[in-house]
Amino acid sequence: MDLNTYYDLISNENKARRYLLRKCFKNHQRFCPRCDKRKLYKLRDGRYRCSRCDYTFHDFSGRWINHGRLSCLQWLSIIKLFELEVSVHKMAMQMKMSYKAVYGAVNTIRMSILSHAEDADMLLGGEIELDEAYFGGKRKGNRGRGAAGKVPVFGILERNGIVHVNVVPNVTAETLLGLTVKKVRRGSVVYTDKFRSYDSLMFCGYRHLKVDHGKYFSSGKVYINGLEGFWSWAKERFIKHHGVSKKYFPLYLKELEFRYNNRTSDIFDLVANYLCQLVPKQD
Ligand SMILES: [Zn+2]
Repeated sequence: MDLNTYYDLISNENKARRYLLRKCFKNHQRFCPRCDKRKLYKLRDGRYRCSRCDYTFHDFSGRWINHGRLSCLQWLSIIKLFELEVSVHKMAMQMKMSYKAVYGAVNTIRMSILSHAEDADMLLGGEIELDEAYFGGKRKGNRGRGAAGKVPVFGILERNGIVHVNVVPNVTAETLLGLTVKKVRRGSVVYTDKFRSYDSLMFCGYRHLKVDHGKYFSSGKVYINGLEGFWSWAKERFIKHHGVSKKYFPLYLKELEFRYNNRTSDIFDLVANYLCQLVPKQD
């Protein structure tokens, strides 16, 4: 979204609200967020009641955007500042809101991104890079041997495409290959370094090529520079945030995956779409 469109959108609460409502209900067709029924009774206070399940709700009930009692204008400003990677501290100052309220809103954005990432079951294919990296912790640790205080992250990158990253409990062959098989189409060409956990890839239906880091330049196409580029890009962002607690690390990692994969897309519009989705029901 260009700046002029954005300024117009935030010129008043009604415009902001209409923009978000369009994302909640296609063609203004309201439906019950609990049972999807379209036959509703409109109540005097502007809310609706479902004719089937009696659920009473308002326009944003059950959606991510309903978290935190923010106005539509506040949401759009936070989405804009999030797009620009402004820190929560500075957002709070800019918006004259409490740190806690802004932090809650930004975490809601991250939850909606995570929820969307979990829904996407698209397989990666073609030329694939696999690699692990270690985040956080102060001491240097040995690879694969419980690097002190560090969180192991496993990355799968489709060349010229998208990256998929996950926090893993360990970097054993079982863990890494299990995730690979779930995410990468059989028959793909897979590049890794010489870490032994990758040794059985050829038995999982992949063409496996190993990078020799010993050589100054990896020969031809046998490199994992794509993922190494992602790791350094991601680590730079973690430093900017002065570290992230272990609890929220997976959430923040998915934000980076999202930013990287949508680096040529309109982040503002995407985040607004995600926030207007219904929060998945907990079983
Ligand atoms: Zn209903």
